[in-house]
Amino acid sequence: MSDAARSRLIPEVDFNVEGRQNGFIRLFHSVHGSAYGFIPIPVVVLKNGDGPTALFVSGNHGDEYEGQVALCNLAKSLEPAQIKGRVIILPMANFPAGMAGRRTSPIDEGNLNRMFPGTPDGTVTQQIAFFIEHVLIPMSDVVCDLHSGGSSLMYVPCPLIKRSADPGRHAQHLALLEAFGAPLAYMSGGGNGTGTDSTLMGGAERAGRLSLGTELGGAGAVTPAALRIVERGLRNVLVHAGILPEAMRLAGEATRVLEVGGPDYFTYAPENGVFEPVVELGEDVRKGQIAGRIHFPETPWAPSVEFHFARDGFVLCKRVPGRTMRGDCLFHLGSDSAAG
Ligand code: CA
Repeated sequence: MSDAARSRLIPEVDFNVEGRQNGFIRLFHSVHGSAYGFIPIPVVVLKNGDGPTALFVSGNHGDEYEGQVALCNLAKSLEPAQIKGRVIILPMANFPAGMAGRRTSPIDEGNLNRMFPGTPDGTVTQQIAFFIEHVLIPMSDVVCDLHSGGSSLMYVPCPLIKRSADPGRHAQHLALLEAFGAPLAYMSGGGNGTGTDSTLMGGAERAGRLSLGTELGGAGAVTPAALRIVERGLRNVLVHAGILPEAMRLAGEATRVLEVGGPDYFTYAPENGVFEPVVELGEDVRKGQIAGRIHFPETPWAPSVEFHFARDGFVLCKRVPGRTMRGDCLFHLGSDSAAG
């Protein structure tokens, strides 16, 4: 049996039919209140003749809304007659997490973006990962997984790629990143150091597909500025892939490409307490500069604890909630990259 045939999820759409199809991917889940029911994961498929396939995913983390809004807008505004090839839109990939407005699934606490390549007979979130990895990604040429900071983090909106060890592949990813046309972007080291990348983009890499991610903002909210960046970017990805005609490219901006490297790019809470940031998102900071303080309002006369940046960089991401536990990520930096 092929890997795809091992998935238990049943799409209501036929990915090979021409035109527009709206429907659900049925994830059967037998519970006390619904013995024979399914979880309805929405999907939109647009197809017009032969050509490349783009797979656009959001709601991989349920509390990241910018991508979900952008894909709702795209699903309604893009017409099959405009494209050559196919666009698959999956706006709420982890549907139970999306409906709950949570990063993880309320059913199995599954963090979808830590579960690839998934398990066909596993928990609901493992089954979703398996379906995306073994059914959707293999039919795609370019994969965009739209994330943001979610409830606990806020990013300067940007697309991102993972640095590939293969220079030719890296150049292709960099061209895709620049086609997106955002003012800021970053690339990360890629992988988690164990040889298996448990993210959706890791699945695209395993299948040899071009992939691009985003971090579009966060704080459990949507901003017009982030939407402008992602909606233009997705159109331009479709042009870059040859699915939309060149005439539909939207003028982008020159992209400042940052690099996010090892542990010294990240700042963590040294104590439990209330987090006072002393820098803003988008600032350039120096090694040793004070990043913030942890306060102890339950003992207001106790001295606060200062913490510092471990390297020079650009403040790409900060924590949102004030109440903080030791080990929470408070900031992460990017550094200007030589790009190539
Ligand atoms: Ca995310």
